[in-house]
Amino acid sequence: MDGKVRSIEKMEDKSIDLCLFNGAIRTSEQEYMAKLLRQKSKTLVAFGSCAQEGCIPGLANVTNRDEIFHTAYFDTPSTVNPEGVVPLTEYEADEGMLTLPYFYNTVKTLGQTVDVDYYIPGCPPEADDIWDALVAILEGKLPPPGSVIGKHTTVCDQCDMIRSEKKIKGFKRTWEVIPDGKTCLLEQGILCMGIATRAACGGMCPKVNSPCIGCHGPNEGVKDIGARMMTALASVIDSNDPEEIERIIREGIPDPVGSFYKFNLAGSMLRRSAFTGSESAPSGAAAETA
Ligand code: SF4
Ligand code: SF4
Repeated sequence: MDGKVRSIEKMEDKSIDLCLFNGAIRTSEQEYMAKLLRQKSKTLVAFGSCAQEGCIPGLANVTNRDEIFHTAYFDTPSTVNPEGVVPLTEYEADEGMLTLPYFYNTVKTLGQTVDVDYYIPGCPPEADDIWDALVAILEGKLPPPGSVIGKHTTVCDQCDMIRSEKKIKGFKRTWEVIPDGKTCLLEQGILCMGIATRAACGGMCPKVNSPCIGCHGPNEGVKDIGARMMTALASVIDSNDPEEIERIIREGIPDPVGSFYKFNLAGSMLRRSAFTGSESAPSGAAAETA
């Protein structure tokens, strides 16, 4: 529904039966909306990968606000900014004070911001999962609070590719090889995240000869998808020499964060790269811009 923030602020607490909250929390405005909708909703669902795990925006947690602004407002070839203008949270104009949301250093998930009742994973969520969630809510047959609504198997469990002994001497990027269409992609040296990923999609990508990139997040019981993948990869490499195993992973997977945490860096155990700066927004930058 379309709605104005001031209208939502005036609603009674818990008067919204169900809120499907889409998107990660990067700015003070998003944080304000998360808190407001938590207050107004009986059931709050983190809807989709961004709300659940940070998704692609969460990859920016390898950097910080200053570096992002520098890239966006100075470094990109198409930027013309001779006066070095960057967004301000407050600006005194003739018409009065103008405000913008504060841009935090760290992307957070909805669950890192407010209490979340349920999670619907996926980038994007699958129609079946959305339907199951709505039916469960309407019928009052909800799983325990905090549950992920969806299938609890891995993409590998849904995949018809033939698996035998996984022993590989190196990894290939997808553009370097044409898979044979029947052998497990991992056994062909192609990084496939199926072993750690929730199978809400029914194993859609390997069915068309393309590796799973993890868009439905870690399966039940997988605490950290990158750690799970590293364990899986170490066991398929045909070597007992730790140095050779490290070299094969380093050369074959040059971007481990982008490969393993493409959809869930913000929600992972790592969360972000080391950062010691302040995270608090200046007063007045949050609610009033919503
Ligand atoms: S690793 Fe990928 S290709 Fe291999 S069985 Fe699992 S989902 Fe299928
Ligand atoms: S196979 Fe993996 S990447 Fe493809 S839709 Fe399913 S979960 Fe997403």
